[in-house]
Amino acid sequence: MKRALFLDLDNTIYPADSLADVLFTELFNLIDEELGQTDISSAEKAKRELTRRPFQQIADEFGFSDDLTEKGLKILRNARVEVPVTPYKAYSQLREVPIDKYLVTKGFTKLQQSKVDMLNIAGDFKKVYIVDPDQSDLTKNDIFQRIMKDKGYTKEEVLVIGDDLESEIKAAQELGVETFLFDPEGRYTNENVTYHARDYKDVAEIVMK
Ligand SMILES: [Mg+2]
Repeated sequence: MKRALFLDLDNTIYPADSLADVLFTELFNLIDEELGQTDISSAEKAKRELTRRPFQQIADEFGFSDDLTEKGLKILRNARVEVPVTPYKAYSQLREVPIDKYLVTKGFTKLQQSKVDMLNIAGDFKKVYIVDPDQSDLTKNDIFQRIMKDKGYTKEEVLVIGDDLESEIKAAQELGVETFLFDPEGRYTNENVTYHARDYKDVAEIVMK
């Protein structure tokens, strides 16, 4: 029997690419200016990854110049979503599960907070944690451990739900916590996770186990 769900935000509660036009136009133009001249396919890939993963990782991986990295950081540090954001339809299946939920999201504080506000989901959670790589070296693993210690949850009593194998899923695996990989587009096969689904209809049953 589970006592708590730890949820990711981007691509777990709402599709991040739905905000690409709102958030990333300026940054995408800068990436095109720098990378697009020499390597169009990596420019496209970097832009696509940016909607899914932290900017700092993408900048490293794609070898952004210091100038582009700095400009990008400046844009994102001040970025906010100011339009209503629509969650995945499947999110309502998760919202209805009567269990304590914690939101643990990684990214720029102002930006992540504005997403939470515009999704109007703060009330669904006992607490919202924003891990900002710009401000600290904390990881999702650190936050998961902290919540479990504070609330006295054992690893068997927690389920981590997310879309990113390298982020929340990995952190959960390191802690021996069960994982639920949300995969609405069916991108993955045979991943080493406890549960794997395109929606959240089985979560109510899983938490009762
Ligand atoms: Mg995510």
